[in-house]
Amino acid sequence: MNPNEIDIHKELKKYFGFDQFKGLQEQVIKSILGKENTFVIMPTGGGKSLCYQLPALFQEGTAIVVSPLIALMKNQVDAIRSVSSEDGIAHVLNSSLTKTEINQVKKDITSGITKLLYVAPESLAKEEYVDFLKSVKISFIAIDEAHCISEWGHDFRPEYRNLKNIIKHLGNVPVIGLTATATPKVQEDILKNLDMSDARTFKASFNRPNLYYEIRPKTKNVESDIIKFIKQNKGKSGIIYCLSRKKVEEIAHVLQVNGISAVPYHAGLDAKTRAKHQDMFLMEDVDVVVATIAFGMGIDKPDVRFVIHHDIPKSLESYYQETGRAGRDGGEGHCLAYYSYKDVEKLEKFMSGKPVAEQEIGFALLQEVVAYAETSMSRRKFLLHYFGEEFDNETGEGGDMDDNVRNPKPKSEAKENVVKVLQVVRDTKHLYKTKEIVYTLLGKVNAVIKAHRTDAQSFFGCGSDKDERYWMALIRQVLVAGLLNKDIETYGILKLSESGAAFIKNPTSFTMTEDHEYSEEEDDAIVA
Ligand code: ADP
Repeated sequence: MNPNEIDIHKELKKYFGFDQFKGLQEQVIKSILGKENTFVIMPTGGGKSLCYQLPALFQEGTAIVVSPLIALMKNQVDAIRSVSSEDGIAHVLNSSLTKTEINQVKKDITSGITKLLYVAPESLAKEEYVDFLKSVKISFIAIDEAHCISEWGHDFRPEYRNLKNIIKHLGNVPVIGLTATATPKVQEDILKNLDMSDARTFKASFNRPNLYYEIRPKTKNVESDIIKFIKQNKGKSGIIYCLSRKKVEEIAHVLQVNGISAVPYHAGLDAKTRAKHQDMFLMEDVDVVVATIAFGMGIDKPDVRFVIHHDIPKSLESYYQETGRAGRDGGEGHCLAYYSYKDVEKLEKFMSGKPVAEQEIGFALLQEVVAYAETSMSRRKFLLHYFGEEFDNETGEGGDMDDNVRNPKPKSEAKENVVKVLQVVRDTKHLYKTKEIVYTLLGKVNAVIKAHRTDAQSFFGCGSDKDERYWMALIRQVLVAGLLNKDIETYGILKLSESGAAFIKNPTSFTMTEDHEYSEEEDDAIVA
């Protein structure tokens, strides 16, 4: 079909009632109509679904939509059916259907009524279905939530890896991949694993200019700090994310006792309570919901004015998704996260029970969160850079909307001290984790140091002019800079990297950000 022959604006109005396309939708749809493989990267709420729904509705044949979530598929099918007099216009094909239902789906597809067929990747693996689909006209295949194909995404699904072969079986059909995960690594994985390196790529900006990003040190006073913040924002809606159910309950209780209308939300509450608390938040019967990451999927409250992270998230993707729930209406949205390295260690400990490959990825993603929290550069610039987007604070929208830009942190030159750290790691023969390296620098003994007789070495205590907090912060910044590596197999042993060895030989300027105090919090289990 020649894309120029169709008035896609007319079709948009007819099916969805919209007068205009949003963002890149029009270009994406033209690419699909031109039968090209197409790759769409847009933040949540960007309008991805319409990119495949609209061309499917007016093209000949059936579009196959691969989606990982049954609930999501059902919602979409209901939405499509509401714009048509024909129920058969959209179907879900999955194992829960009866034989009669499956026959009806097949009949509707064969007779050309069905324009969108939603399938889970595992259903598409069934030979019976593939054989049937081979015999009918397919307009294109849309792979929704395409990041599920990548182990570097936040929701890896091994079944997605099979899609490439299935698509090949279906013949020469254009493929459109869609995702809201913008990291270059995930994008590369998607293109490779879907065998569509030729795809035309459409990437929307991930910049949310109305959001203000701020990180505060997590001290013992974190709860009173949160209460103060909420009281300063009286009457506004907000979400507080915690990593454990226990913390959610605790914080919700503390807020209630302090006269703030707040409810908890986590997967440990029964479905009825969860639904009730969610409704209370949406209907503004309460101002604040304190939640684990279980809260938020599909929450579309436009006027959330703040998102507070009581604990740091596992990755910057999660952070972006979670903070993204603020200011959907384009109004004010304050994103405040409390950071303490103890939380990082808690998450590392939690991950250490997982398979090695998963751990490695988990640690790497966490390292990026640490780098984000500790950076002294613009947070927006850092975040967008992580998503493969260059941002200029002078000219870009929202350029002054973060704490680092508004209140630059004190910085100091740490070249000589970096060399000290690297030499100590090298000269203690790659035996120690951060703690023992810091002790060696300070000249402090413990059983491990005694056992290796490090206290008898000439360099023992070579950094006693600085305190523990300074060395801990510097080592983390040196890790982020890649001069040291943390060995995953041995869970945390520090090793000199090649660039670290080069730095010792030829030291260059190293600007470190002055750090804050850390809280001593009790451990609690992390369960969403
Ligand atoms: P995504 O899948 O990217 O998260 P959705 O497809 O759910 O986004 O779309 C987000 C919202 O934007 C929906 O409420 C949808 O109806 C709306 N929307 C999509 N396209 C348009 C458009 N062209 N004009 C107005 N609203 C749109």
